[in-house]
Amino acid sequence: MRETLVLNASFEPLSTVSLRRAVVLVLQDKAVVEQAHSGVRLRSASVELPVPQVIRLCRYVRVPFRRRAPWSRRGVLVRDRHRCAYCGRRATTVDHVVPRSLGGGDTWLNTVASCAADNHRKADRTPEEAGMRLLRRPFEPTPADALLLALGVREREQLPAGREVGVAA
Ligand SMILES: [Zn+2]
Repeated sequence: MRETLVLNASFEPLSTVSLRRAVVLVLQDKAVVEQAHSGVRLRSASVELPVPQVIRLCRYVRVPFRRRAPWSRRGVLVRDRHRCAYCGRRATTVDHVVPRSLGGGDTWLNTVASCAADNHRKADRTPEEAGMRLLRRPFEPTPADALLLALGVREREQLPAGREVGVAA
């Protein structure tokens, strides 16, 4: 019950997202609940709503689920959940693992979210040269990430007052 199916406005299934993200989409009026788990409600300080099992997007989106999502700086930050690939703290910049000056490209597999301090420290060097270790390897975004990017959902726009939504029977 932690995964919610997302339908396009045309009712075509697109992807699954976490329950938390499904709730965010509904609260941002980007989706409506088509089917909910019976007998349980989500409650936070200011919202109460059914636990979505299936949601449907309010507008039709073309999402490149089976093709590669186009690279973007914002996409890298969303993919990496705004966490620095070197220290795990909040990231606001995008670092090229192999620097552009050494031929590294703007690709999903060559870019990671980075805090400004680590990005500055690494400069125009590879992680090996800089003596810095990647906490995780860069990867192609998941369909759920591609969906959030297509919908323009920002990670910071989350639940009201930043509280976790509890599931109440
Ligand atoms: Zn960092």
